[in-house]
Amino acid sequence: MNDSPVPGRPTLLGIPYDAGSSYLRGSAAAPPLIRQALASPSSNTWSEALQDLGKPDTLGDAGDLDVSGDDPRRTIEDGARAILQRNGRPLSLGGDHSITYPLLRAFRSVHPRLSVLHIDAHADMYDEFEGDCYSHACPFARVMEEGLVDRLVQVGIRTLNPHLRSQAERFGVEVVDMRAWSDGVRPEMSGPVYVSLDLDALDPAFAPGVSHWEPGGLSVREVITLVQTMRGTLVGADVVEYNPQRDPSGGTAMVAAKLVKELASRMLAVTA
Ligand code: MN
Ligand code: MN
Repeated sequence: MNDSPVPGRPTLLGIPYDAGSSYLRGSAAAPPLIRQALASPSSNTWSEALQDLGKPDTLGDAGDLDVSGDDPRRTIEDGARAILQRNGRPLSLGGDHSITYPLLRAFRSVHPRLSVLHIDAHADMYDEFEGDCYSHACPFARVMEEGLVDRLVQVGIRTLNPHLRSQAERFGVEVVDMRAWSDGVRPEMSGPVYVSLDLDALDPAFAPGVSHWEPGGLSVREVITLVQTMRGTLVGADVVEYNPQRDPSGGTAMVAAKLVKELASRMLAVTA
């Protein structure tokens, strides 16, 4: 573990929380397995932009949060804020997608300007889902209601319904659904950017180790290219919804680790 104060250092934060899941639990077990895949000798520690994430003091690790208490959302928010207050760039490992709402509360307290690039098969903007307004199907409704971000841009979406469409209109969300993506539309980001990456944005052919299989999604390469080429400064990210129970081969853990490496590398890059 290395979490000394170095400006802008990407810092892993494990969030073993899956009580917001509507269909299958399991993602709470993800953080140590993604770390294990990151350290696997089957690959190396270099990003494609030739950043050595294995070099001392390059990628920090704040460990896993203990979310077993009475107020897990508060624990998550405080955990991210502690890294931000040291000038770190939190790179959170879910857990289910409900963690992004408390994470963005922490970001808002230090980032007066913030855009979010949300990569997901699902819009996660239900007003409430099966009686739970903090479900993993709802975080971006809470985020937009509280005005935690200036812009929300969604990519990979392929499960809209009339309610979600009206939520997007109500909140002014920019949705690049899979049909638009296939037509060549790409998000235009700028300024400080937070990437929230739900692994089910990927086609299940590439990443079956998720709770919700939604065919017709992005390739691993498309997401890597998006992370590498988007404009703006990457100040934080999360990689959520990896479900080890659906990943007996460990292949999806390697996909998660690859994307964590590319996100960390992008945080280390000098960008405008
Ligand atoms: Mn999601
Ligand atoms: Mn999803």
